[in-house]
Parts: sequence; structure tokens; C-alpha cells
Amino acid sequence: MKAILDHVGIAVSDLQASLAFFKDVLGLHVEASETIVSQRVRATFLNTGQSTLEMLEATAPDSPIARFVEKRGPGLHHVALRVDDIAAAIAHLKSRGIRLIDEQPRPGAEGALVAFIHPSASHGVLVELKQPAPKVEMLTTVGRHTLGEVELISLSDGFISLDGGAMFGVVPRTLWERRLPPDDSNRIPLGMRPLIVRTGGKTVIIDAGCGDKMDAKSAQIYKLDRRYHLDHSLAEAGVSAEDIDIVIASHLHFDHVGGFTAVGKDGSLVPRFPKAKYFAHRAEWEDATHPHERNRASYLQENFVPLKDAGVLTLVDDAAEIVPGVRYRRSGGHTANHQVVTIESGGRTAVFTADMYPTAVHIPDPWVMGYDLYPMDTLAFKRAFAQEAVEREYLLFFEHDPSMAAGYLREKDGKRFVERII
Ligand SMILES: [Zn+2]
Ligand SMILES: [Zn+2]
Repeated sequence: MKAILDHVGIAVSDLQASLAFFKDVLGLHVEASETIVSQRVRATFLNTGQSTLEMLEATAPDSPIARFVEKRGPGLHHVALRVDDIAAAIAHLKSRGIRLIDEQPRPGAEGALVAFIHPSASHGVLVELKQPAPKVEMLTTVGRHTLGEVELISLSDGFISLDGGAMFGVVPRTLWERRLPPDDSNRIPLGMRPLIVRTGGKTVIIDAGCGDKMDAKSAQIYKLDRRYHLDHSLAEAGVSAEDIDIVIASHLHFDHVGGFTAVGKDGSLVPRFPKAKYFAHRAEWEDATHPHERNRASYLQENFVPLKDAGVLTLVDDAAEIVPGVRYRRSGGHTANHQVVTIESGGRTAVFTADMYPTAVHIPDPWVMGYDLYPMDTLAFKRAFAQEAVEREYLLFFEHDPSMAAGYLREKDGKRFVERII
């Protein structure tokens, strides 16, 4: 069993007095604090490099920490060791006849699973085993898939972080935090994944990420991570900006069309794909160019107005077929005229779901983003669409999923899940 030191727990009777020493005198940085209701304890973490100090303060007189302080006074309380698989660690200890306080792992701070070994078995030291909350694995690599005669290439424009509460609307954090663990500011990391469609000699790109025009303040708010971005991804795919013939917008929010324009040599905004024709939905364009207080922050004119000025923009309506086999399909909900894009070839269908299924975690029908302007429309569309996607085996592309680009929606024993393909 492999274990590394995660933190040292210290029981305190007066947190402010303890912090006056550990924080102010020693200069340690407070990382986070959290109340663990079941233990009637408040934990404050101080960063010490690879591991942390956990200051434990009782929140009720019958808390185990209150009893500890009463009996022994404040001071060293426990040592926590990090393990990869806590169930396996417990099984290993049981097989050696080690006495445990917790025979089953239980929830600890920061979404971790924990279990305590009895101090009588560990020579007077209370030992905690901790399996940290899973970190989201970020997928940046280019993913390829052949659908009939069509080549699909999933790209990445890096990652943006948005408030987890806003991403899941009315769904409580306790239900989504394990699937997409939030950071200390409650933000969850989201991919930006444009899709290349090669069909009939044309190279099409659907959406283009947030691009490189975002100001420093917004980049900080959104924790923008574009160390690997669309240029890298296009190069990896062997596609140049000049190769793009057609650009399609699912809708005109900045995280989808920021990459449609770029700052040219003379400082003016120019189409980012110099030889391409751009397509947007006519009514979405109307909304985007006449924003109101609720959607103004998402519709940045610099991302799409220069396309009209350059004469490269075509506005189309619901169900428009932009190139043979590649069509708009109105989902509405997120914006009044939000479009998913369907790609059909050889009897197979792929769907670029944009902000209808922003991530694979958003598959349950009522898991609708708080950002959506018409959530009941999203719900109605999702209900009908999910059934269709299962029956007809649509390959679904998830534009914002941090770790999965595409998969099939499956249903087994009344439960839906995504079988990952890319
Ligand atoms: Zn959007
Ligand atoms: Zn979006």
C-alpha cells in the first residue's frame, strides 16, 4: 500500500489565536476552510507546499474535537496519509487485523473520502487515510472519427472556467460536484471544442472557441487556460486557417465565436479564416446585435460584426443545409435560436450539441444551465432529442466537456449514460 503525507491535523480551541501564530508569525497561507457538519468541526487549511496543516475547531460541545481539547488540550491531533484507493487500503489493513475506527470510507473535507485507523493499532498516533476527490482529466488532444464518407476532427481552444452553480441551474452542488469538482471559487473547468467536418471536398469548422481577444480582467474571471489553443490544435490536425472553406456558428456567444475574428496587421479586426464563408442564424444575429442587460456580456460585437463588414457572412434560417449533409437544427432554450448542427453520411448521424448538452454531465433532462434564457424550451428539446439520440445512435459532440469530446448516448435498465468515443 502506497501512502504519502497529505496533512497534519491540529486541534485548536481558539482559531483566531492559532492563526495569529501559524498565519501571521510563520507566514503560512490560508488555502480554504470548510465546515464538516457530520463531525461538528470547522477545518481551516494552511498551505505548507506538498502537504497542509489542518486546523480543527469544534462547532458544537459534543464534537469529537471538543472532547479531545477538553481531555488533552489543543495540539497535534492526527496525521493524514493520501492513498489512491481507500477501499483497497481498508481491505489491506483488515486483512492484517488492524483495528479501524471507520470500516467504511466516509465523506471528508473537499470532496475526499476518509477513514481513521484506531490509535491503539498505530502506536498512539491517530492516522487518517484520505482518497482525494477525483481531479478532472483535461483532454486537449485532437480526436478523429469517420462517419460514413465524412471525416470529423475534434479540436481544442483551451479551457474556460465558469461558476458551477450557473452551469447546473437548479441542480444542487451536492449532485454535480463529484462529476465536475469545482475550484475554491466554485468554478468548474470547461473545454472549448470546435469541430472540423471534411465532406465533399470542403473543410468546415463549427464554432471556434473564445479566440485570443479576451482582456486580462475577463481572462482572470474565467480562469482562461489557452496554453494549448486552436492554432496548436489545427496544426496537430494538419489543417491551416487558409484551408477552412466554411465556418458555422451554433450561436454567437463569445466562448463559441470569439475565434471567428482576429486582430489584423493594421490593428483592425479581420476574419480569422481568410478564405472562408461564415454562416450564422438570422434571428440569432438579430438578438446578438440588439443585446439586452441579460445577454450583453455574452454577445461581444467584435466577434461577428467585422464578418458582416468584410462581406463574408451569410445569414440563414432554421433547418438550413449549409453544405450537403450538414444542417442547422433549432434547439432554442439557451438562446431563442440556439442551433445544434447535424452531420449525416452513409446513414449515420453526428450532432454537434453546442450549449444544449454543454458537457456529458448535462445529459439528464432537467440538468439545464442557469445561463439559458428559456430553460423550459431547453427541457422540452432535450426530452425529445435524448430519445431520438438513443434510438438512432447519434454520435454526440460535447463542446464544453473538459475530458470527453464525443460519445453515444445509451440507455440500459431505464438509465442513460454516455459511451465515450473521443
Ligand atoms: Zn452560449
Ligand atoms: Zn458556451
